[in-house]
Amino acid sequence: MMNDKIEIRRCLIAFFALAAVTVGSAASFAAEPSWLAGVARTKITPDGPYWMGGYASRTRPSDGTLQDLHAKAIAVADNEGSRVVIVTMDLLVIPRNLAAAIKRRVLDKYKLPHSHLLLNCSHTHCGPEIRLYRESLHNIPPLYAGKMREYVVRLEDQIVQLVGEAIANQVPARLNYTQGEAAFAVNRRNNRAADVPRLRREGKLIGPSDHAVPVLKVTDSKGRLQAILFGYACHNTVMSFNQTSGDYAGFAQQYIEEKHPEAIAMFVMGAGGDQNPLPRREVKHLHQHGRALADAVEAALASQPRSVTGSLRAALADAPLEFQPHADRQTLEKQVESKNQYQRWKANFILGELNAGRRVSRKYGLPVQVVKFGDDLLLVAIGGECVVDYALRTKATYPRDGGPAIWVAGYSNDVFGYLPTLRVLKEGGYEGGGHMIYTKFPGPFTETVEERVFETLDRLMREVGDE
Ligand SMILES: [Zn+2]
Repeated sequence: MMNDKIEIRRCLIAFFALAAVTVGSAASFAAEPSWLAGVARTKITPDGPYWMGGYASRTRPSDGTLQDLHAKAIAVADNEGSRVVIVTMDLLVIPRNLAAAIKRRVLDKYKLPHSHLLLNCSHTHCGPEIRLYRESLHNIPPLYAGKMREYVVRLEDQIVQLVGEAIANQVPARLNYTQGEAAFAVNRRNNRAADVPRLRREGKLIGPSDHAVPVLKVTDSKGRLQAILFGYACHNTVMSFNQTSGDYAGFAQQYIEEKHPEAIAMFVMGAGGDQNPLPRREVKHLHQHGRALADAVEAALASQPRSVTGSLRAALADAPLEFQPHADRQTLEKQVESKNQYQRWKANFILGELNAGRRVSRKYGLPVQVVKFGDDLLLVAIGGECVVDYALRTKATYPRDGGPAIWVAGYSNDVFGYLPTLRVLKEGGYEGGGHMIYTKFPGPFTETVEERVFETLDRLMREVGDE
């Protein structure tokens, strides 16, 4: 009797185990969508003439709109209730304070942790200046400085509301990952712009680039396209004129949305700190590169995608970076007489701090974020204008057959200036440290910069279970 009972129990256990496996595999392979996704968009073109960011040489306000600017959001949740919201913006930068304010309000209002909100900007140079400290650096006339402050207040409200709308719009969805390629990004440190057409013809362009175009396709339960997220590692600096536009990324988004009017196209800026779109400076180049990127996305969409399933995890931490010390007082006092207005501005700022008994901090916490979509896609988002080496090293460090695809975004959560790797720092030049003259930081980063970023990334990878 006893043995029979045990036998029956064994049979039942075996039956239920088999049933569980069957149900489990049905859930992973059947047509049922395993995610929730919702999208939203809002126009963020400033009203009337405004002060533009991107080029220190600007001396007058904006003059008309070639293309509107947008902020777009996608909320993605797994079936355990874990949710991530990605916001992409046709903006030059996302300042640290603004990101912090948005993240605080989003946590309060929607209970979304900071680690689960990713803010990425396209770095278009044909949109508003929103770094308030630049008022004195660029001598922005009071009328436009006032407009800038009002714009930033309104932008914060708009982004918080946008996140709420994306969450409210969530419906059952499927995610698919695929990848294309576009070749217009050129390493601007290694190739003279004037030589690029010839070098390209001769196949002699040099220096690292990342021509990958990662694409995340989001469809609803009926197979209708909801969103197309796509990335590219290249400055949005085709134009330097005074008309509003999202630059090549704005046109790529526009072209994709024209082809798929039911969907929202979102551009995620990659590690393009040292990459320029070439050739450039004519409106036809906006269309040319926008079209090339949109075509790369379409080609990717036509290829066999990788189905993205599983659960969602995200982690965020500050990489503890350090700056080199600023010049001594004697040098600073000479620099306030410099012919270079930016050098004067910077020396005055540092002397002002010293005279007020304050120190200019040599520490900087750089946000590094990882979002893991099941076992299929890992999105790494690094702050600052990170140079392309960060993407290449990340992809070389975490390569595994059958492991998740790796997508590296830069310009996320805090765009303070350039983030060089050790190589670029040592080489010097604009991205290596020269740009620091436009910031309130004491000096270039120390030689620990790259390792600190990767130590932090390593920790985050372990946190999301993907070391
Ligand atoms: Zn830049």
